[in-house]
Amino acid sequence: MLITDNSVKAAGAADSKIVTRHYNAFGQHMKDLYHTQVYKVNVDAGFTCPNRDGTVATGGCIYCNNDSFRPVACTSAHSVRKQIEKGIPYLKTRYGAGKFIVYFQPYTNTYAKVETLEKLYLEALDHPDVVGLAIGTRPDCVDEEKIALLEGLAKDNFILVEYGLQSIYDKTLNFINRGHPYECFQKALAMTAGRGIRIGAHLILGFPTETRDEMLSMAGEMSGLPVEFLKVHQLQVVKGTALADIYAANPFPMFGYQEWIEMLADFLELLSPDIVLQRLFAAAPDSILIAPVWNKTRSELLRDLDDYMDRRGSYQGRLRI
Ligand code: SF4
Repeated sequence: MLITDNSVKAAGAADSKIVTRHYNAFGQHMKDLYHTQVYKVNVDAGFTCPNRDGTVATGGCIYCNNDSFRPVACTSAHSVRKQIEKGIPYLKTRYGAGKFIVYFQPYTNTYAKVETLEKLYLEALDHPDVVGLAIGTRPDCVDEEKIALLEGLAKDNFILVEYGLQSIYDKTLNFINRGHPYECFQKALAMTAGRGIRIGAHLILGFPTETRDEMLSMAGEMSGLPVEFLKVHQLQVVKGTALADIYAANPFPMFGYQEWIEMLADFLELLSPDIVLQRLFAAAPDSILIAPVWNKTRSELLRDLDDYMDRRGSYQGRLRI
Protein backbone atom coordinates (compact mmCIF):
# COMPACT_ATOMS: atom_id res chain seq x y z
CA MET A 1 0.00 0.00 0.00
CA LEU A 2 1.32 3.40 -0.96
CA ILE A 3 0.20 6.44 0.97
CA THR A 4 -1.27 7.80 -2.25
CA ASP A 5 -2.89 10.94 -0.89
CA ASN A 6 0.42 12.06 0.43
CA SER A 7 1.89 13.94 -2.49
CA VAL A 8 3.66 17.11 -1.50
CA LYS A 9 5.35 19.91 -3.32
CA ALA A 10 9.10 19.57 -3.37
CA ALA A 11 10.98 22.58 -2.04
CA GLY A 12 13.33 24.94 -3.81
CA ALA A 13 14.02 24.49 -7.49
CA ALA A 14 11.55 21.65 -7.76
CA ASP A 15 8.66 23.75 -6.49
CA SER A 16 6.40 22.95 -9.39
CA LYS A 17 7.01 19.21 -9.30
CA ILE A 18 4.61 16.94 -7.45
CA VAL A 19 6.40 14.04 -5.78
CA THR A 20 4.60 11.02 -4.37
CA ARG A 21 5.84 10.20 -0.92
CA HIS A 22 5.71 6.98 0.98
CA TYR A 23 5.11 8.40 4.39
CA ASN A 24 2.79 10.72 6.24
CA ALA A 25 4.41 14.11 5.67
CA PHE A 26 3.80 17.24 7.73
CA GLY A 27 3.32 19.55 4.74
CA GLN A 28 0.50 17.53 3.29
CA HIS A 29 -1.03 16.88 6.71
CA MET A 30 -1.28 20.62 7.35
CA LYS A 31 -2.57 21.29 3.86
CA ASP A 32 -5.34 18.78 4.43
CA LEU A 33 -6.25 20.53 7.68
CA TYR A 34 -6.18 24.11 6.40
CA HIS A 35 -6.65 23.69 2.62
CA THR A 36 -3.60 25.83 1.90
CA GLN A 37 0.16 25.64 2.31
CA VAL A 38 1.00 26.05 6.00
CA TYR A 39 4.54 27.07 6.87
CA LYS A 40 6.36 27.51 10.12
CA VAL A 41 7.65 30.94 10.95
CA ASN A 42 10.49 30.61 13.43
CA VAL A 43 10.83 32.93 16.40
CA ASP A 44 13.38 33.28 19.14
CA ALA A 45 11.60 34.50 22.25
CA GLY A 46 14.79 34.76 24.27
CA PHE A 47 14.41 31.60 26.34
CA THR A 48 17.38 29.80 27.85
CA CYS A 49 17.73 26.15 28.79
CA PRO A 50 17.90 24.52 32.24
CA ASN A 51 20.48 22.11 30.90
CA ARG A 52 22.77 25.04 30.25
CA ASP A 53 22.05 27.59 32.99
CA GLY A 54 22.88 25.28 35.88
CA THR A 55 19.34 24.39 36.94
CA VAL A 56 19.77 20.85 35.58
CA ALA A 57 23.36 21.08 34.29
CA THR A 58 25.70 23.61 32.77
CA GLY A 59 27.21 21.88 29.75
CA GLY A 60 24.00 21.24 27.80
CA CYS A 61 23.42 18.22 25.60
CA ILE A 62 26.76 17.20 24.08
CA TYR A 63 25.54 17.70 20.48
CA CYS A 64 23.86 21.04 21.10
CA ASN A 65 24.85 24.14 19.22
CA ASN A 66 21.68 26.16 18.76
CA ASP A 67 23.20 27.90 15.74
CA SER A 68 22.96 24.57 13.91
CA PHE A 69 19.17 24.70 13.88
CA ARG A 70 18.31 28.37 14.14
CA PRO A 71 17.72 30.38 10.94
CA VAL A 72 19.84 33.54 10.76
CA ALA A 73 16.74 35.77 10.69
CA CYS A 74 15.48 34.30 13.94
CA THR A 75 16.83 36.45 16.78
CA SER A 76 15.53 37.51 20.15
CA ALA A 77 16.80 41.04 19.47
CA HIS A 78 13.34 41.63 17.97
CA SER A 79 9.95 41.09 19.61
CA VAL A 80 7.97 37.98 18.72
CA ARG A 81 5.49 40.16 16.84
CA LYS A 82 8.24 41.83 14.82
CA GLN A 83 9.85 38.47 13.95
CA ILE A 84 6.48 37.19 12.73
CA GLU A 85 5.78 40.33 10.71
CA LYS A 86 9.21 39.99 9.10
CA GLY A 87 9.00 36.25 8.44
CA ILE A 88 5.49 35.93 6.99
CA PRO A 89 5.88 38.13 3.87
CA TYR A 90 9.05 36.25 2.90
CA LEU A 91 7.37 32.83 3.28
CA LYS A 92 4.33 34.02 1.32
CA THR A 93 6.43 35.28 -1.56
CA ARG A 94 9.01 32.49 -1.57
CA TYR A 95 6.76 29.48 -1.03
CA GLY A 96 3.21 30.70 -1.60
CA ALA A 97 2.35 29.92 2.00
CA GLY A 98 -1.19 30.82 3.04
CA LYS A 99 -1.26 30.17 6.78
CA PHE A 100 1.40 29.96 9.45
CA ILE A 101 2.43 28.12 12.58
CA VAL A 102 4.67 30.17 14.83
CA TYR A 103 7.55 27.94 15.84
CA PHE A 104 9.16 28.75 19.18
CA GLN A 105 12.39 26.99 18.38
CA PRO A 106 15.70 27.80 20.09
CA TYR A 107 16.39 26.42 23.56
CA THR A 108 13.49 25.53 25.89
CA ASN A 109 10.30 27.36 25.05
CA THR A 110 8.28 26.58 28.14
CA TYR A 111 11.10 27.58 30.47
CA ALA A 112 9.50 30.63 32.11
CA LYS A 113 6.65 31.56 34.42
CA VAL A 114 3.23 30.73 33.02
CA GLU A 115 2.30 34.45 32.87
CA THR A 116 5.32 35.12 30.64
CA LEU A 117 4.48 32.16 28.44
CA GLU A 118 0.87 33.25 28.07
CA LYS A 119 1.89 36.75 26.98
CA LEU A 120 4.35 35.43 24.38
CA TYR A 121 2.01 32.75 23.00
CA LEU A 122 -0.92 35.19 22.73
CA GLU A 123 1.33 37.72 20.99
CA ALA A 124 2.22 35.04 18.45
CA LEU A 125 -1.40 33.99 17.90
CA ASP A 126 -2.52 37.59 17.43
CA HIS A 127 -1.92 37.68 13.68
CA PRO A 128 -4.66 36.95 11.14
CA ASP A 129 -2.56 34.44 9.18
CA VAL A 130 -1.33 32.48 12.20
CA VAL A 131 -3.31 29.30 12.92
CA GLY A 132 -1.25 27.94 15.74
CA LEU A 133 1.99 27.35 17.58
CA ALA A 134 4.72 24.74 17.64
CA ILE A 135 6.62 24.85 20.90
CA GLY A 136 9.94 23.08 21.26
CA THR A 137 10.74 22.12 24.84
CA ARG A 138 12.16 19.57 27.26
CA PRO A 139 9.87 17.06 28.97
CA ASP A 140 11.13 18.25 32.37
CA CYS A 141 9.97 21.81 31.63
CA VAL A 142 6.21 21.35 31.68
CA ASP A 143 3.87 21.17 34.62
CA GLU A 144 0.12 21.10 35.19
CA GLU A 145 -0.18 24.90 35.06
CA LYS A 146 1.66 25.20 31.74
CA ILE A 147 -0.21 22.31 30.18
CA ALA A 148 -3.51 23.88 31.31
CA LEU A 149 -2.48 27.10 29.51
CA LEU A 150 -1.77 25.14 26.32
CA GLU A 151 -5.01 23.19 26.70
CA GLY A 152 -6.92 26.48 26.79
CA LEU A 153 -5.14 27.79 23.70
CA ALA A 154 -5.72 24.50 21.90
CA LYS A 155 -9.48 24.97 22.04
CA ASP A 156 -9.21 27.52 19.19
CA ASN A 157 -5.75 26.96 17.75
CA PHE A 158 -3.39 24.29 16.50
CA ILE A 159 -1.04 23.82 19.46
CA LEU A 160 1.83 21.39 19.03
CA VAL A 161 4.28 20.68 21.84
CA GLU A 162 7.48 19.15 20.54
CA TYR A 163 9.26 17.25 23.27
CA GLY A 164 12.97 16.78 22.78
CA LEU A 165 13.69 13.17 23.63
CA GLN A 166 16.51 12.04 21.29
CA SER A 167 16.56 8.46 22.59
CA ILE A 168 14.46 6.06 24.62
CA TYR A 169 17.60 4.56 26.18
CA ASP A 170 18.87 5.97 29.46
CA LYS A 171 22.42 4.86 28.58
CA THR A 172 22.26 7.28 25.65
CA LEU A 173 20.51 10.04 27.60
CA ASN A 174 23.35 9.81 30.13
CA PHE A 175 25.99 9.81 27.39
CA ILE A 176 24.55 12.94 25.79
CA ASN A 177 24.10 14.73 29.14
CA ARG A 178 20.42 15.13 28.45
CA GLY A 179 19.64 15.72 32.12
CA HIS A 180 16.49 13.61 32.27
CA PRO A 181 15.65 9.90 31.92
CA TYR A 182 13.20 8.39 29.46
CA GLU A 183 10.65 8.11 32.26
CA CYS A 184 10.48 11.93 32.38
CA PHE A 185 9.28 11.97 28.76
CA GLN A 186 6.65 9.33 29.54
CA LYS A 187 5.35 11.44 32.45
CA ALA A 188 5.17 14.58 30.29
CA LEU A 189 3.24 12.63 27.68
CA ALA A 190 0.77 11.35 30.26
CA MET A 191 0.20 14.94 31.43
CA THR A 192 -0.28 16.27 27.89
CA ALA A 193 -2.31 13.54 26.21
CA GLY A 194 -6.07 13.77 25.75
CA ARG A 195 -6.23 17.55 26.24
CA GLY A 196 -6.45 18.75 22.64
CA ILE A 197 -2.72 19.53 22.50
CA ARG A 198 -0.84 17.90 19.61
CA ILE A 199 2.18 15.96 20.82
CA GLY A 200 5.45 15.77 18.96
CA ALA A 201 8.68 13.97 19.75
CA HIS A 202 12.21 14.48 18.47
CA LEU A 203 14.64 11.59 18.02
CA ILE A 204 18.24 11.49 16.84
CA LEU A 205 19.61 8.26 15.42
CA GLY A 206 23.31 7.48 15.29
CA PHE A 207 24.66 7.82 18.81
CA PRO A 208 27.56 5.41 19.32
CA THR A 209 25.83 4.03 22.42
CA GLU A 210 23.18 2.26 20.34
CA THR A 211 23.04 -0.59 17.84
CA ARG A 212 21.11 -0.25 14.63
CA ASP A 213 18.43 -2.60 16.00
CA GLU A 214 18.08 -0.47 19.13
CA MET A 215 17.60 2.61 16.94
CA LEU A 216 14.95 0.82 14.90
CA SER A 217 13.14 -0.29 18.06
CA MET A 218 12.33 3.34 18.76
CA ALA A 219 9.86 3.30 15.85
CA GLY A 220 7.77 0.66 17.60
CA GLU A 221 8.06 2.44 20.93
CA MET A 222 6.84 5.78 19.49
CA SER A 223 3.97 4.00 17.76
CA GLY A 224 2.65 2.75 21.09
CA LEU A 225 2.58 6.22 22.65
CA PRO A 226 0.24 9.20 22.14
CA VAL A 227 2.82 10.75 19.81
CA GLU A 228 1.23 12.31 16.71
CA PHE A 229 4.20 14.10 15.17
CA LEU A 230 7.79 12.97 14.91
CA LYS A 231 11.11 14.50 13.96
CA VAL A 232 13.78 11.91 13.33
CA HIS A 233 17.18 12.66 11.86
CA GLN A 234 20.75 11.52 11.65
CA LEU A 235 23.24 12.56 14.31
CA GLN A 236 25.44 15.42 13.17
CA VAL A 237 28.67 16.50 14.84
CA VAL A 238 28.95 20.28 14.77
CA LYS A 239 31.65 22.68 15.87
CA GLY A 240 31.61 24.15 19.33
CA THR A 241 30.09 21.10 21.03
CA ALA A 242 31.32 18.50 23.49
CA LEU A 243 30.47 15.88 20.89
CA ALA A 244 32.95 17.49 18.51
CA ASP A 245 35.70 16.96 21.11
CA ILE A 246 34.63 13.35 21.66
CA TYR A 247 34.56 12.73 17.92
CA ALA A 248 37.98 14.34 17.39
CA ALA A 249 39.53 12.21 20.12
CA ASN A 250 37.82 9.00 19.11
CA PRO A 251 35.92 9.10 15.80
CA PHE A 252 32.95 6.77 15.72
CA PRO A 253 30.95 5.53 12.69
CA MET A 254 28.33 7.93 11.37
CA PHE A 255 25.58 7.38 8.82
CA GLY A 256 26.68 7.61 5.20
CA TYR A 257 24.12 9.06 2.80
CA GLN A 258 22.82 5.82 1.32
CA GLU A 259 22.99 4.16 4.73
CA TRP A 260 20.71 6.88 6.09
CA ILE A 261 18.22 6.48 3.25
CA GLU A 262 18.03 2.75 4.00
CA MET A 263 17.80 3.38 7.73
CA LEU A 264 14.90 5.77 7.20
CA ALA A 265 13.05 3.26 5.04
CA ASP A 266 13.53 0.55 7.68
CA PHE A 267 12.44 2.92 10.44
CA LEU A 268 9.37 4.15 8.58
CA GLU A 269 8.22 0.62 7.82
CA LEU A 270 8.13 -0.04 11.57
CA LEU A 271 6.38 3.22 12.41
CA SER A 272 2.63 3.67 12.78
CA PRO A 273 1.21 5.21 9.58
CA ASP A 274 -0.75 7.62 11.79
CA ILE A 275 2.36 9.46 12.94
CA VAL A 276 3.14 12.59 10.93
CA LEU A 277 6.79 13.06 9.97
CA GLN A 278 8.04 16.59 10.48
CA ARG A 279 11.70 16.04 9.75
CA LEU A 280 13.76 13.21 8.29
CA PHE A 281 17.22 14.65 8.26
CA ALA A 282 19.27 17.36 9.92
CA ALA A 283 21.01 20.07 7.95
CA ALA A 284 23.46 22.05 10.04
CA PRO A 285 25.13 24.94 8.17
CA ASP A 286 28.24 23.88 6.23
CA SER A 287 30.27 26.39 8.22
CA ILE A 288 29.86 24.40 11.45
CA LEU A 289 29.20 20.85 10.24
CA ILE A 290 32.02 18.38 10.98
CA ALA A 291 30.36 15.06 10.13
CA PRO A 292 28.76 13.42 8.26
CA VAL A 293 29.19 15.62 5.19
CA TRP A 294 26.79 14.58 2.42
CA ASN A 295 26.54 17.70 0.23
CA LYS A 296 22.89 16.96 -0.51
CA THR A 297 19.99 19.38 -0.64
CA ARG A 298 16.67 18.76 1.04
CA SER A 299 15.04 18.17 -2.34
CA GLU A 300 17.69 15.61 -3.29
CA LEU A 301 17.30 13.67 -0.07
CA LEU A 302 13.52 13.58 -0.28
CA ARG A 303 13.67 12.53 -3.93
CA ASP A 304 16.27 9.81 -3.24
CA LEU A 305 14.26 8.51 -0.30
CA ASP A 306 11.14 8.33 -2.45
CA ASP A 307 13.00 6.58 -5.26
CA TYR A 308 14.52 4.08 -2.86
CA MET A 309 11.23 3.33 -1.09
CA ASP A 310 9.53 3.02 -4.45
CA ARG A 311 12.05 0.48 -5.71
CA ARG A 312 11.73 -1.47 -2.48
CA GLY A 313 7.93 -1.37 -2.35
CA SER A 314 8.34 0.31 1.00
CA TYR A 315 5.87 2.55 2.93
CA GLN A 316 5.30 3.81 6.42
CA GLY A 317 3.85 1.11 8.64
CA ARG A 318 4.48 -1.74 6.19
CA LEU A 319 5.92 -3.97 8.92
CA ARG A 320 3.68 -2.72 11.69
CA ILE A 321 1.72 -5.55 13.22
S1 SF4 B 1 19.53 20.45 22.92
FE1 SF4 B 1 17.86 21.59 23.88
S2 SF4 B 1 17.77 20.73 25.96
FE2 SF4 B 1 19.78 20.17 25.15
S3 SF4 B 1 21.15 21.83 25.85
FE3 SF4 B 1 20.43 22.35 23.79
S4 SF4 B 1 18.66 23.68 24.12
FE4 SF4 B 1 19.05 22.57 26.04
